[in-house]
Amino acid sequence: MAEQCSFCGNTHLTPKTTRYIHQQNGDLLFVEQVPCLECDYCGEQYFEIDGLKRIEADHRAIVEHRKSPSRFVQVAVQEFETATR
Ligand SMILES: [Zn+2]
Repeated sequence: MAEQCSFCGNTHLTPKTTRYIHQQNGDLLFVEQVPCLECDYCGEQYFEIDGLKRIEADHRAIVEHRKSPSRFVQVAVQEFETATR
């Protein structure tokens, strides 16, 4: 994992767990409690490449119905409205 933030150069990265949102051909998978390092300054998050590969493989398995996700959530979707009012 990164030891320095590649966005802002800050060297204080704190280990955390977060929700990772994986996108694959328009399909979304939320993965909860994914370990990461978060930049204390700008909030950029860094993930282990092995973890991301596992998430990708899990997502493929779910899309191909070889695996069931823990649960489903409903997500509201809206087009961005430009401020013309
Ligand atoms: Zn940063």
